[in-house]
Amino acid sequence: MKVFVDTTRCEGHGLCAEQAPGVFSLDDDAELTQHFEGAEIPDEHLTASRAAVNACPVGALRTVS
Ligand code: SF4
Repeated sequence: MKVFVDTTRCEGHGLCAEQAPGVFSLDDDAELTQHFEGAEIPDEHLTASRAAVNACPVGALRTVS
């Protein structure tokens, strides 16, 4: 599974980083980094990543299997 961030929608709420801190992080300017951008999410982060996608309040995260 891959996770894509729609940066035009992301508002930097950080709920994804709370759910999956090994996958998402925000810098001091609320800029989001997805640490596996363009790559498969490692198995150990899959459950947390799905929770993060569901937690985003603006639908900025999309998965591709
Ligand atoms: S939860 Fe959604 S809006 Fe918030 S930082 Fe993550 S992707 Fe962006």
